[in-house]
Amino acid sequence: MDKAKRKAIIAGNWKMNKTPKEATALLNAITPLVKDADCEVIACVPYVDLAAAIEATAGTNVKIGAENCHWAESGAFTGEISTGMLKEIGVEYVVLGHSERRQYFGETDETVNKRTKAALAAGLKPIVCVGELLWERECDITEEVIARQIKLDLWDVTEEELKNVVIAYEPVWAIGTGKTATSDQAEEVCAFIRAQLAKLYNQDAADAVTIQYGGSMNDGNADELLSKTNVDGGLIGGASLVAEKFAAIVKAASK
Ligand code: PEP
Repeated sequence: MDKAKRKAIIAGNWKMNKTPKEATALLNAITPLVKDADCEVIACVPYVDLAAAIEATAGTNVKIGAENCHWAESGAFTGEISTGMLKEIGVEYVVLGHSERRQYFGETDETVNKRTKAALAAGLKPIVCVGELLWERECDITEEVIARQIKLDLWDVTEEELKNVVIAYEPVWAIGTGKTATSDQAEEVCAFIRAQLAKLYNQDAADAVTIQYGGSMNDGNADELLSKTNVDGGLIGGASLVAEKFAAIVKAASK
């Protein structure tokens, strides 16, 4: 992390876990543990938990995010949620392009880009996820994959809008598998992402972007991963569902 240049952010991605009552209980456990954090702390929760989560975190330093949003303002999109709906209830962040959305729900770079632009236009801060499959890493095309995702997912995003974008580097082979990228692997790709941003925008704009690592980050490996210059935080799945583990990662990012 380079806190002089950019904000450190630890975000939980709860995925399809926790009912509204359970969400309140978990956030009531998390908030006192992270109240002195020297980093941004976010919980990205299922849609039906958002209202309860916003209520449970009112007056605390924990921000709430959604796990997706649609690009249209309204219309015939059964099952989808618009950016306006999220904004109105007080959501600040939204995870976009998570590999599970890409893998199981047909998300493409084009739809991730549409969602990203809609989120920014509505004043939401997107956490845009990119990452290579194991097969792509083995074929030595990680950089090509990441460069393509960054270029397409951020297509038409202005330099001004980029200030509100968070990138999460999540190697797909490390998500929910217990297999963490080594800190050197994480640093290498996060630095590559920053170099791509510098090419697409400029060095100052790139230096200001928070680039998180995600993929089995936990209380045991967070210190090492976050010690790297270009790893500015974490997007945390499994460990974000256990208050003490999540708080320990926040503590690591607060150093
Ligand atoms: C994620 O869901 O973004 C994630 C990184 O999950 P996990 O921490 O469980 O690997």
